[in-house]
Amino acid sequence: MDIKYNLKSASERRTEPFMPEGDVGFGKLRTDHMFLMDYRDGQWCDPRIVPYGPFEMAPGAMSLHYGQSIFEGAKAFMHEDGEIYTFRLNKNAERMNRSADIVCIPNIDEAMQVKAINALIDVDRLWFPQQEGACLYIRPFIFATEDRLSVSPSQQYTFCVMLSPSGAYYASGVNNGIRLLISTQFHRAVSGGTGASKAAGNYAASLRAGKAAVEYGASQVLYLDSTNTQIEEAGAMNHFHILKDGTLIIPTFTDTILKSITSQSIMELGEMLGCEVRQETVMLDQFIADIESGEIIEAGGFGTAAVVSPVSSYIFEDGRVITVGDGKVGPNIQRIYKLFTELQKGHVAAPQGWVNRVERVAP
Ligand SMILES: *Cc1c(COP(=O)(O)O)cnc(C)c1O
Repeated sequence: MDIKYNLKSASERRTEPFMPEGDVGFGKLRTDHMFLMDYRDGQWCDPRIVPYGPFEMAPGAMSLHYGQSIFEGAKAFMHEDGEIYTFRLNKNAERMNRSADIVCIPNIDEAMQVKAINALIDVDRLWFPQQEGACLYIRPFIFATEDRLSVSPSQQYTFCVMLSPSGAYYASGVNNGIRLLISTQFHRAVSGGTGASKAAGNYAASLRAGKAAVEYGASQVLYLDSTNTQIEEAGAMNHFHILKDGTLIIPTFTDTILKSITSQSIMELGEMLGCEVRQETVMLDQFIADIESGEIIEAGGFGTAAVVSPVSSYIFEDGRVITVGDGKVGPNIQRIYKLFTELQKGHVAAPQGWVNRVERVAP
């Protein structure tokens, strides 16, 4: 499908590279344009790039009432050659369709999703923030637009891609770990539910747990399975831990865990990292015992936003705190962060197909 371009006039859009003065933050800024495509009469149609701005939508749009809405998150980086490169977008497109299946949204051809994102970045490439560690955060999402009050799959949808020029997540390297609340009260997902989908409703459902975490001085909840015996993941990142022999362990993906592309990439990079990476069921009791005995020396979360978030301690609902290792960011996590960001920046050759240049295709 050919993409139509309805761009802002030269006087309304950025014409010089973006040289921010201070830190641009994460997810705050927008670029000049967005990509849109509609679903009606049983097919995706009218792919177009238009000025970024409000949608016109019926108050009866089904996403507003019944939550049929899903999203993705990815990043693009500028390399030393001044070109912009995306990171594993095909994995995001594939996961978008997996999320779509779970909440009955029609799939979008993966190549079309990738093409849409590339075309948008190309048009707004001057928005790439010229700052150390910066990126263009990519947010594709799909939502139901049919005006109908009925709990059934919508017959109409919009696919939108927007971009957010963002700064380095860690301004001066990974220095501090976070605290997670191990919650037996809140659950992110149940088997047979929507946990393996990046469905908007999952995040609305996590807000109350997030508030509770803050009350405990923690930054997020570490979710357990519904029997409170197994470790699942955190609110927006997969969980992992590292044994003293260097083995990295990620809980086995189930239908209550969102398959992080960062986690999947770390598993594929095991050899480059020089350690064994494996998935297994992680029992909470054993995990705690292994931290206390020193068998587990590092732990953290994987996700696109931060790449890796080290966890320095866990707090239980009864106030008990356990510290991982000496509470400082360990060498394995430093090494993972360094390798991953070097791959993204093009300083180290990434596996075939992971890093792709955004071509100049705009008219
Ligand atoms: C997005 C997300 C992650 C991280 O996935 P990445 O592909 O690595 O960004 C992990 N868990 C949940 C619940 C998420 O929504």
